[in-house]
Amino acid sequence: MPVLVDDRYQQGLIVARRDFTKDLWSIRIRPLDPFPFRAGQYLTLGIELEDRVLERPYSIVSAPDEPELELFIELIPGGALTPHLHRLGEGQSVWLRRRPKGLFLRQPPASGRVHLFCATVTGVAPFASFLRLLARRSPSEGGAVPKILLLQGASHADEFGYREEMEGLGRELPGFRYVPTISRPWDEPGWGGEVGRAEDVIRKYADDFGVAPGQGMAYLCGHPGMIAGGRALMRRRGLPDKEILEEQYWPEGKEPTGSDN
Ligand SMILES: Cc1cc2nc3c(=O)[nH]c(=O)nc-3n(C[C@H](O)[C@H](O)[C@H](O)COP(=O)(O)OP(=O)(O)OC[C@H]3O[C@@H](n4cnc5c(N)ncnc54)[C@H](O)[C@@H]3O)c2cc1C
Repeated sequence: MPVLVDDRYQQGLIVARRDFTKDLWSIRIRPLDPFPFRAGQYLTLGIELEDRVLERPYSIVSAPDEPELELFIELIPGGALTPHLHRLGEGQSVWLRRRPKGLFLRQPPASGRVHLFCATVTGVAPFASFLRLLARRSPSEGGAVPKILLLQGASHADEFGYREEMEGLGRELPGFRYVPTISRPWDEPGWGGEVGRAEDVIRKYADDFGVAPGQGMAYLCGHPGMIAGGRALMRRRGLPDKEILEEQYWPEGKEPTGSDN
C-alpha cells in the first residue's frame, strides 16, 4: 500500500467501462474486500496524484447484491478528478474508502405508497440501484410494491445512459413508470418523448401519479437547480420537508464556466 493510503482504503479494480457520450461513462469496479452498502448510498473514490490522494463521492448504480460497484460519471472539463478518471479503463485500479456513506434512501420507498424520483443525468444512479434491487425481489415474496415515478432530465437523449434499462424495468415492475425528458429538443428533431427540464415536467405527471402530502416521498438527486425547483414545487403541493429528500451533487452556482448543465 503506498504511503499516502492507509487502511481506511482498499483497492478496486476497474473490470468494465462503457462510454455513453464523449463525457459520460460508466465503470464497474471489483473491490478487493467486501463492500457492503445500502441502495442509495455513495462511495468515495480516490486516485493518487503527485503527493496526495484526490477523492470525490459517487453514487452507486449497482444493487447491493451485485459483485461489482458500478458508477455513472460525468467528465467535468477543468475538474480536479474527472479528467484523470476519464483516462482509466479496464485493468486499472482506484482507491475506495472502505465505508460507504449517505442517507439519501434511508427511508426506502415504502410499499403501497407513491414516490417521485427526480434526477438529472448521473443523478439516476441511486434510483437505479434501488430499482435493480426491487426488480430482483421475487414475485413470490408478494406484498404491495411501491408506486414509483422516475423523471430524468438531460440536455440530450444520449445522456440518459440507463434509459433502456429503466424502460425495461417500466415494463417489468408493476407500479413503476420512467419518463426521460430533454431540455434541448431543437437539437433532436427525432425525439418523440417529453421535453423540458425535469422540474418543469413534474407538474404534468405528479397529479396523475398521485404525488401528494402524506402519500409517500419525493426524492431529488443531482443538479442543485433541479433540486431547488423540485423542492419548491413539492412544497407548493403541500409536501412537508420531511417528505422531500435530496442528494445534491455540487453547490448551487458552482458549475464550471461553459457548462450547459
Ligand atoms: C453525494 C454525492 C454523490 C455524487 N455522485 C456523483 C455521480 O454518481 N456521478 C457524477 O458524475 N458525479 C457525482 N457527484 C459529483 C462528484 O463528486 C464530483 O464533484 C464531480 O465528479 C466533479 O469532480 P472533479 O474533481 O472533476 O471537479 P471539481 O474540481 O470538484 O469541480 C469543478 C467544478 O465543477 C462543479 N461540478 C461538480 N460536478 C458537476 C456536474 N456534474 N456538473 C456541473 N458542475 C459540476 C463543482 O461545483 C466545481 O465548481 C456526487 C457528489 C456528491 C456530493
